[in-house]
Amino acid sequence: MSNYQLVSFSPTHFYESIVIFNQEFGKDYISFEEIDKQYKINTFLGYGVVDNASKELIGLCLGYTNYTAEEQFKLPLPKEYVYLKSIVVRRDCHGKGIGKRLLAEFIKKADEVRQDIFSTVWVKEHTISVFEKMLAKSQFVLCSEHKNYWQERSMIEKFECEKCGSPPCTCTMRVYAKKIQ
Ligand SMILES: [Zn+2]
Repeated sequence: MSNYQLVSFSPTHFYESIVIFNQEFGKDYISFEEIDKQYKINTFLGYGVVDNASKELIGLCLGYTNYTAEEQFKLPLPKEYVYLKSIVVRRDCHGKGIGKRLLAEFIKKADEVRQDIFSTVWVKEHTISVFEKMLAKSQFVLCSEHKNYWQERSMIEKFECEKCGSPPCTCTMRVYAKKIQ
């Protein structure tokens, strides 16, 4: 980890993070307007990893504290919780433990605010993603699974899923939780 440094995520990282997100999760994963909007309405909890030599952002972990949205999870939730939106690491920097380090830092912070963590992942049916394996190692538990979760939306909004390509997206959405309180 000595060649990288962990920093708090801030608006100065918006552009670079969008490039990484769209590269790794599909070209329309998130826009500047969307991330900017989320930043204004939510309390961000995020970390970035910056390469010491190039000063480039090479990975990030993004979520919110004091989150209250319910509809996307389809299950009972505490009044306020931490939502772990995503962890992403630039492809050429995989396998260096960066994602693990980001998750550990994120959990530490959630522990400080004493809120349970919820996260959603999207996967092809019958597969387990690297992210899910990482969550399981950190005592996250699978709460529910929703098949074809984005099918309708992908056709309306015509978004291209990184896993399915052109719509419809037939990915499964899984909800994970980690008890903090
Ligand atoms: Zn898909």
